[in-house]
Amino acid sequence: MSTPASSRLVLASHNAGKLKEMQAMLADLPLQIISAAEAGVGDVPETGLTFVENALIKARAACQASGLPALADDSGLIVDALGGAPGLYSARYAGSPTDDAANNAKLLHDLRDIPAGQRSARFFAVIVLLRHATDPQPLICEGSWEGVILDAPRGSNGFGYNPVFLDPRHGLTAAEMQPALKNTLSHRALALQQLKQRLPALSL
Ligand code: IMP
Repeated sequence: MSTPASSRLVLASHNAGKLKEMQAMLADLPLQIISAAEAGVGDVPETGLTFVENALIKARAACQASGLPALADDSGLIVDALGGAPGLYSARYAGSPTDDAANNAKLLHDLRDIPAGQRSARFFAVIVLLRHATDPQPLICEGSWEGVILDAPRGSNGFGYNPVFLDPRHGLTAAEMQPALKNTLSHRALALQQLKQRLPALSL
């Protein structure tokens, strides 16, 4: 039996870590995932008002620039007591360029008067796939990870809001978890699992 020819997909991200994660997760599918840089895809303004809109904007621009199907993701932290902030602005909550310690400090300051029972939050991730720039039926995969925001950071693993985000089921912050555990729970892992299940049904 012949092996199916592999389809080429562009990942609309300049983050080398994301490319590696995506390639590893999808390694057993007949896909070749190439970087935005390799495909000549630049950055685009993320002008959407939702994670899904921003992911679609990035994927569409990557399709246009490369002529290939494109994957794009977007993610962030949603805190209920702050009306969903930092949300789309998670990376630069305390200003540009991204500074994780400053973002965490601002978040804890903004929540200083919020009692323990009202500090619910979730990490949210979306991954979209567009087969071409005018594809009217994007594949949209989502993952959500529920937790609470502590009043002081704990742990040093990973990045971003990991030290202030507690998973109550495990009694650990995302920064106290080994990466292998985080990778079974996280918003991004759940969205990626969904992508992996749904991709084979698409004709690319
Ligand atoms: P992006 O999707 O790479 O643009 O990430 C947006 C921002 O959300 C990051 O810069 C982090 O501040 C935050 N974020 C997303 N996922 C995580 C996570 O797994 N841990 C900690 N922070 C995260």
